[in-house]
Amino acid sequence: MKIAVAGAGGMGGRFALCLHQSGNDVILIDQWQANIKAIRKDGLTASLNGKVITDQIPIYYPDEIDEKNEKVDLILAMVKSPQLDQMFHAISPIIQDDTYVLCLMNGIGHEDTLSRYVNPGHILSGTTMWTATMKGPGLLELNGEGSIDIQNIRPEGKQAADKVIEVLNQAGLNARYSDNVLASIWRKACITGGLNALTALLECNNMELRSLRVFDAIILEIVKEYIAVAEKEGIHLNQTEMIEAIQDYCRPTVNGFAFTSMYQDLIQNHRITEIEYMNGAISRKGKQYGIPTPYNELLTQLIHAKEQLLTAF
Ligand code: NAD
Repeated sequence: MKIAVAGAGGMGGRFALCLHQSGNDVILIDQWQANIKAIRKDGLTASLNGKVITDQIPIYYPDEIDEKNEKVDLILAMVKSPQLDQMFHAISPIIQDDTYVLCLMNGIGHEDTLSRYVNPGHILSGTTMWTATMKGPGLLELNGEGSIDIQNIRPEGKQAADKVIEVLNQAGLNARYSDNVLASIWRKACITGGLNALTALLECNNMELRSLRVFDAIILEIVKEYIAVAEKEGIHLNQTEMIEAIQDYCRPTVNGFAFTSMYQDLIQNHRITEIEYMNGAISRKGKQYGIPTPYNELLTQLIHAKEQLLTAF
C-alpha cells in the first residue's frame, strides 16, 4: 500500500517505520525543518525497545508533494491537534476520490476538521495504545507494546477499514476493528483530560499528581463534566470506570513515572498544546448544551495562560 504519514513526530515516526519495514511504500510529510533535514541526512533513527534501528524514508514538506508524483492510498494523520487543519489544507492536492485517511490522534472533533478536506465516507477513526517519544530531530524512543482500534465513521468505509487493519497487522501493530470507536476516543479523552493539564500546570509526573491530597476531589469534578457532555453526544461513560482508569494509569508499573504529552509539549519544549481538543472541547460543548464545566474551563484558561508565558503564542 502507498501510505503518506502526515506528521513525522513520535507516533508518525513509529507507524512509518513499522509500515515501511513490512514492505509498504511509505512517505513522511512534515513541517519541522530540523526534523526534515535530519531524516534526509541520516534517516529516521529509533531506539526500539532498546535496539537501535535506522531507516531511510522519503520525507517532504507539504508544498513539495502533489498528486502527479505522490498518489497515495492512505494518509495517516499523526500531527498534534492544533496542526491538523493547516496540514490537511496544505496536502489537499494529494487527497483524491480514492484516498482514505486514518486518524489516530488524541482529542475530540478531528473528524469535523478532516471532513473539510476528505469525503467523510473515506475517514477512518481510531485510538492507539502505542506510545512514542521524540528525543530530537529524526530521533525516536519507542518502548513497550500497544494496540490500535479502528472504525469507519460512515458505513461505506467498512471494507477500507478491514484492509487497513490487515496492513497494520502485517506491520505488527496489533490492530482490530471496534464497533464503537467514538466511545473509545471519549474514554481516552477523559483520561488525558484528567491528567494532562494538571501535570503541565503542576509540573509533575503522573505518580506525583496521583499522590496529591487534592487529586481525587479535582479528578471527580473533571470526570463528572466529561460524562455530562458525553451523554449529550450519545456516549455513555461510567464514572467509577473512568476514575479507576485514571488512577490505574498513574500506577508506577503503568505510566506513573511518565510525563504527559502536554507536560512535554509545554514545559519541556515550550510548544502550543492540544488543550483545545481536550478540556477545551468539553468547555465549548458544555456551553453549547447548557452544561456548566467550570473545572475544564479553568484548566483550559490556565493552560492558555501558561502557553502565553512559555511560547511565542
Ligand atoms: P509529536 O509532537 O512528536 O509530533 C507531532 C508533530 O510535531 C510532527 O510534525 C513533529 O515533527 C512536530 N514536532 C515534534 N517536536 C517538535 C519540536 N520540538 N519543534 C517543532 N515541531 C515538533 O506528536 P506525537 O507524540 O507523535 O503525537 C501525535 C498525535 O498522537 C497527538 O494527537 C498525540 O496526542 C497522539 N498520541 C501520542 C502518543 C505518544 O505516546 N506520543 C500516544 C497516543 C496518541
